[in-house]
Amino acid sequence: MKILAALALGLLAMRSGGAQEFKFDNWKAWDSFKEGSSVEFEIETSGMKMTMIKTLDKKEKEEITLKNRTKMKVGDSEIDNTTEEKVKKTESTGGEDVTCPLCEKPAKDHKDTGKWSDEKVKVGEQEVKCKLYESPEKACNGETVPKTKIWYSSDVPGHMVKMETEQMKMTAVKFEVKK
Ligand SMILES: [Zn+2]
Repeated sequence: MKILAALALGLLAMRSGGAQEFKFDNWKAWDSFKEGSSVEFEIETSGMKMTMIKTLDKKEKEEITLKNRTKMKVGDSEIDNTTEEKVKKTESTGGEDVTCPLCEKPAKDHKDTGKWSDEKVKVGEQEVKCKLYESPEKACNGETVPKTKIWYSSDVPGHMVKMETEQMKMTAVKFEVKK
């Protein structure tokens, strides 16, 4: 639950962010790239390691289809599973009517207590300029939140480069931009 709270805060911070900050929008994160663009993540959680490759499969006017391929070694065998993810344009409405799940204030009145900074991150051979979001120690409702860090870059398909919580690490190791 606490992880979710931290993520919710991160999302609100993104949505209510000022000029300096990065506004994450799942539609734009993919719509600004051509079909075939992809990003590969390494995910580590509770001692397990897996690879996830997100590929922009199809672009339509109101909908983008992503193919998410997950690969994981279990003993001697490898699990290789591909699922589809739909990103709808209608989700891209900004954060005006979104309320904070913790203090129930609308996003526009919400005080962003997270921290933003610039950081360069190496993704494979490429250096990517990122906006780093760090969750505050205490949430808006006074509750302690576990540290969450999220790196974003508009150069990378999907815009997310890295995410770290106490339990989970997700790192882009490769990306390909089709023009
Ligand atoms: Zn709040």
